[in-house]
Amino acid sequence: MMFKKQRAAVVETCLALADMGYLAGTGGNLALRVDREHFLITPSATDYYAMGPADICVMRLADTGQVEGEKSASVEAGLHARVLKARPDCDASVHTHQPIASAYTLLDLPLEVTEQDTAALLGKTISCVSYAPSGTGWLAKRVGQAFDASTHACLMRNHGVVCVGVDMDEAIKRVAALEAACAAFFRVSLDDAPALPATTRKLIGDALSSVTSTQKLETPP
Ligand SMILES: [Zn+2]
Repeated sequence: MMFKKQRAAVVETCLALADMGYLAGTGGNLALRVDREHFLITPSATDYYAMGPADICVMRLADTGQVEGEKSASVEAGLHARVLKARPDCDASVHTHQPIASAYTLLDLPLEVTEQDTAALLGKTISCVSYAPSGTGWLAKRVGQAFDASTHACLMRNHGVVCVGVDMDEAIKRVAALEAACAAFFRVSLDDAPALPATTRKLIGDALSSVTSTQKLETPP
């Protein structure tokens, strides 16, 4: 099996993200560049808790042809290939359906990051890519174009997010930081919405309080 160790690491990272509720069932997908010509990607529509290293697909970066892997590659392989090509300094590209940031994408607004450490990690402004259906070349092109040398994350309208990193650990840190930044935005919005019924306010407040800037995901060494 090619890239056995890296495939196992991708599986472990998926489990960590799934435990956090960031992948929403079989949603979301992870890509990891393993050499100049290949990247790994999670398979399509597969339960993360039943997934093993053999299920992780090895893809050619040049044409997204599948080289190895017992299942079909994620439909977002083309999207990740474009992102990895746009950021040759980054080996990891992570797409999630994390709940708070995905809710933020319904607003169709860029996210202005005010907290200094978070801005250093994510950038001061996170753009929101306009809607295109999952798995289409249309979406892949839009997300690929959103990433330049200084873009570390983007929002996808009515869908989710994509974060990159030099390695999986850095990409996951950005995923967690983006969730916390969106939660901070909604906490301020909640304070500005006094007309909201008390029960609704409490439900939203409780959901947001579980996400903090100190949130850490356990990733494999
Ligand atoms: Zn998705």
